[in-house]
Amino acid sequence: MQTNFTAEQLADPAMQSSEKILRTCVHCGFCTATCPTYLLLGDELDSPRGRIYLIKDMFENGRPATPDVVTHLDRCLSCLSCMTTCPSGVHYMHLIDHARAYINDTYRRPWHDRLLRGVLKRVLPYPGRFRAALVGAFFGRPLAPLLRRLPVVGGRLGAMLALAPAHLPPRSAAVPGVSFPVSGRRGRVALLTGCAQPVLDPGINDATIRLLNRLGIEVVLPKGEGCCGALVHHMGEEAAGLAFAKANIDAWSAEIDGKGLDAIIITASGCGTTIKDYGFMLREDAAYAEKAARVSGLARDITEYLASLDLGTSTAPPLTVAYHSACSMQHGQKITDAPKKLLKSLGFTVKDVPEGHICCGSAGVYNILQPEIAGQLRDRKVKNIGRTRPDVIATGNIGCITQIGQGLAAAGTATPILHTVELVDWATGGPLPPALAAAEFAAPRPLLQAAE
Ligand code: SF4
Ligand code: SF4
Repeated sequence: MQTNFTAEQLADPAMQSSEKILRTCVHCGFCTATCPTYLLLGDELDSPRGRIYLIKDMFENGRPATPDVVTHLDRCLSCLSCMTTCPSGVHYMHLIDHARAYINDTYRRPWHDRLLRGVLKRVLPYPGRFRAALVGAFFGRPLAPLLRRLPVVGGRLGAMLALAPAHLPPRSAAVPGVSFPVSGRRGRVALLTGCAQPVLDPGINDATIRLLNRLGIEVVLPKGEGCCGALVHHMGEEAAGLAFAKANIDAWSAEIDGKGLDAIIITASGCGTTIKDYGFMLREDAAYAEKAARVSGLARDITEYLASLDLGTSTAPPLTVAYHSACSMQHGQKITDAPKKLLKSLGFTVKDVPEGHICCGSAGVYNILQPEIAGQLRDRKVKNIGRTRPDVIATGNIGCITQIGQGLAAAGTATPILHTVELVDWATGGPLPPALAAAEFAAPRPLLQAAE
């Protein structure tokens, strides 16, 4: 694609990077076929190619974002399905990230949008605040039908309340410090504790530490690590995203330079995609560029890391597992086989979900900001999962667990959904995962039936 930027515009490194990306697009349109929003809305401007044109026009002309452009770019899930499909290697993720930051700098959103985004960015990345908000949501649930009727903000308020768990999960046992292997020491890793995940499902980090310790791996949760920054980064809050990234880089660098790390383990694939991109995000920062690239190079999804270890013998029953590959896992990090191979090696029958490349609608805070599209994608996903008639559903991202779990509850099914690492831990000697215990899981049986 031909571009028309001035030398002055290209003096900005972010614009220079976006111009290079724009030039790789040959506007073939292959990406439209796998874009969830184009699939649902059928509008070229809600497809990757349409959005690329909108961004090009906005950047080249150097004009502030318009309400129309913001509408179409806001509808993008950042699922990155288009990047998997694109034959020309267009790095859509960096382009849309830049466009979101540009919108944040040049566009004043309506008051209700600013208010909601302000609340989300001040609450979600902080586990203490998020936990307090969930307590509030618990008491606010009975008001959900009333709130939904409020003009302008009702849909989003209702979506927020619906996503809150019916019961507040217990606090995670994973606190800053070191967990030592049961015997011997074969390796040493840092684990990202994260922000929303340990509040919504503390069992994931607990299972990870327990499993790694049994396998001879020392696990450190360094003081100072926190949210990876993805939540605010995807809302266009560039400075806030970089501040989170730097805090994590400082915490992990102290460990790398101290006792050393073999890997930085991440159990939420949305976070993994962002941490693997720290090197790019901080490429122009003289103080952090090198450290950021080193951290990105050490970042591993838990299933990637487990693939290099001998897990031993499985003691789990031979269940049928529908594996839902999160977009950030398959499109963002290109991890497609490792989780399925792990589960198969432990005796599980693994089923791919039809239309597996299409997003479930979670996408960070997308299901709160765009509840209608997110709801349609969630229902489509639940139906497709049902076609595999699974005993359980496994995935590698807390956002998907919450989103799909909500759809399962609405469909009246008891099929449990849990993190892949919880199944691996259980199969190799760990306790029954909470999601299976809650579903009163006794014996293999198909719980979720295919949609008619
Ligand atoms: S598939 Fe790639 S090259 Fe073709 S229009 Fe989409 S982004 Fe551009
Ligand atoms: S990231 Fe997903 S929603 Fe956005 S344009 Fe690409 S395929 Fe479509």
